Amino acid sequence: MLKVAKFGGTSTSSGEQLRKAAEIIRSDKERRYIVVSAPGKRHEGDNKVTDLLYLCHAHLTYSVPFDQVFKMIEDRFRSIAAELSKNVDIDLYLSGIKSKLNKGISLDYLASRGEYLNAIILADYLDYEFVDAKDIIFFKMDGSLDYEKTKRIMNERLKDIPYAVIPGFYGTSALGDIKTFSRGGSDITGSLVASCMDSSIYENWTDVSGFLMADPRIIKNPKKIRHITYRELRELAYMGASVLHDEAIYPVRSANIPINIRNTNYPDDPGTIIANEREKGNDNLTITGIAGRKDFTIVALQKFYMNSEVGYVRRILSALEMYDVTFENIPSGIDTVSIVLDSQKLDGKLEKVLSEIERTCSPDSINVYRNIAMIAVVGQNMAFTIGVSGRVFGALGRAGVNIRVIDQGSSEINIIIGVSDTDLEKAIEAIYYEFN
Ligand code: ASP
Repeated sequence: MLKVAKFGGTSTSSGEQLRKAAEIIRSDKERRYIVVSAPGKRHEGDNKVTDLLYLCHAHLTYSVPFDQVFKMIEDRFRSIAAELSKNVDIDLYLSGIKSKLNKGISLDYLASRGEYLNAIILADYLDYEFVDAKDIIFFKMDGSLDYEKTKRIMNERLKDIPYAVIPGFYGTSALGDIKTFSRGGSDITGSLVASCMDSSIYENWTDVSGFLMADPRIIKNPKKIRHITYRELRELAYMGASVLHDEAIYPVRSANIPINIRNTNYPDDPGTIIANEREKGNDNLTITGIAGRKDFTIVALQKFYMNSEVGYVRRILSALEMYDVTFENIPSGIDTVSIVLDSQKLDGKLEKVLSEIERTCSPDSINVYRNIAMIAVVGQNMAFTIGVSGRVFGALGRAGVNIRVIDQGSSEINIIIGVSDTDLEKAIEAIYYEFN
């Protein structure tokens, strides 16, 4: 049995945090492959090393002296190494990077050094082997991950290495250069190592004890979610409740490996398990979570006999496609259809989209409603429980919340409700306390 454990930026932000991570790693011999982020924030107002590395590169690009920013990075690693290092000459590594900076360095290479140095120091402290991500993670020419190559080479490289620390966030491009994932991408590295090495679980150690049933800024002490399925998480993440990088889900999900979100500061908390199926005995809650987000726009169209016009919705969607706008939902009736759009993604394109819809769809009326909040009430068991939506809508009615949109996916694991932005908090409270 082997476990892959990934430690995020707040878990690797200082010598003290890395010591906690090391204690966790040592307490379970099955934790064999460890993936680390760059040092993150130690406290409110602190800097993430990756942000500093990007900033450093921006200085280079504009030919502004970078010494001050680079010194902040050096100080971080010197202090981590001073606490943990046994054999690592951190100054040698730092001066190597600095001399590359003076000669010209790629953005991705520089950005990846936070993970690289953290992994070197932790490997040395644990007496684990350091395995560079550049030797085991590969991208294709089009920039997407080369999963087949990654799996093959990672297996070859790690087969005789029982314990290793691997830096997150990057791999090698098709041209042989260092290439990073998008921000937060160490989650993806962890997921890939877990999936390629057939790990029994992917532990993702962070600074929260898993997911909560609702936003703690709205609900005081919301219940923790012990178990959630990948599908449920997707429905909640889509409403902005994401803790994990989106792309980290696919590799482990398709290999049927559960993710366990754990808290480095409270290692005894069991955290949240995300899996394809919920474990027996943990499958009786009607609602798993509630997530909500403000600032959506609804475009509502009406046309008499819309249902007998072939291609009507396609023409609406073509207008969106034309201006590169994605949509969130399309609740519809016999002669009406509403398109729910994330206002931020509209970014000055609304008028153009509307005039294209007018031109190609000739609706009887078209109305735009702004400042809409969307709420997702999610639960795998809703599909089998009669009366859940009745309870949701009853609770909202008693709280005096006016519902603007209702949508339920055919999978019946979610109910999506649109309310005015100003009612978001009240609506989430009403639904939460109806079921708790
Ligand atoms: N250090 C990278 C970032 O800040 C990747 C990560 O931590 O997951 O985005």
